[in-house]
Amino acid sequence: MRASWYDQFSDSPDVLRSARIKPTVVPVLDFEIGGEDFITMAGPCSVETEAQLMATAIHVRRSGARILRGGAFKPRSSPYSFQGLGLEGLRMLARARHRTGLAIVTEAMSEADVPMVADYADILQIGSRNMENYTLLEAAARSGRPILLKRGMVATIADFLRSAQIVLACGNPNVILCERGIRTFETSLRNTFDAAAIALLRQITHLPVIGDPSHAAGHRELVPVLARIAVAAGADGLIVEVHPSPDRAWSDGEQSLDFAGFDAMMHGLKPWLALRDHTLADTVKAELMEAAR
Ligand code: PEP
Ligand code: MN
Repeated sequence: MRASWYDQFSDSPDVLRSARIKPTVVPVLDFEIGGEDFITMAGPCSVETEAQLMATAIHVRRSGARILRGGAFKPRSSPYSFQGLGLEGLRMLARARHRTGLAIVTEAMSEADVPMVADYADILQIGSRNMENYTLLEAAARSGRPILLKRGMVATIADFLRSAQIVLACGNPNVILCERGIRTFETSLRNTFDAAAIALLRQITHLPVIGDPSHAAGHRELVPVLARIAVAAGADGLIVEVHPSPDRAWSDGEQSLDFAGFDAMMHGLKPWLALRDHTLADTVKAELMEAAR
């Protein structure tokens, strides 16, 4: 790793890659994030009804997802928008896990909710708007659950790494970084997908990195291509919004894929994932040769 990066990110020493630290592999149920397998997390923006959630869970599982996403506590920009079903939503997620075997990732929005969310979730999501909520980060870290840390919409890489450092410093090594688009002068799309951030994070940290093409794009037409870009940039996985009937979704319908759209995205990823497997095999070979020298 380039020496100047150690200086640039020196206030987050524990997240930086080094010869002494093995890449972090986050265990979830019977699989891992950050290992050889590419992990897709998929599901609705918000948990709405039992039927909506269960149909989505069954579908995305069949199409290759390993983790069900769905918000029970929603950070909405308007107080008049749907705020989430709370505990009832968490219970629905747990039933979907029981029925499908998918792991659950869901957002905790406040310190007070962390113990309850951690009771139901396999991974706690810290949303973009809360990336710098340090008391929430500490409470989430102490729950012992893996943390999916979304990049703040105006956070630099250094800010992002500082938040990851807080979780690690609380004794929780299982952090997954998520690039979900940032605010720039460009307003054509909901956010600007910072694919270079994925490539950079893969070089400078030992943590798994995933991409969120849904929040980055804001329009479902762009989601499959941003997903491919995330794979090409070196992501370990994706988190994608999927809904049985996106135009009727209670939140983020514009950017949600329907079932056929999700299947098409997954199918389109195959050649990119095959290339990723080659690259991984080459990296492992190079490391073995380096070690043998
Ligand atoms: C979400 O995942 O639905 C969400 C609110 O994401 P973000 O925090 O990235 O906006
Ligand atoms: Mn959303």
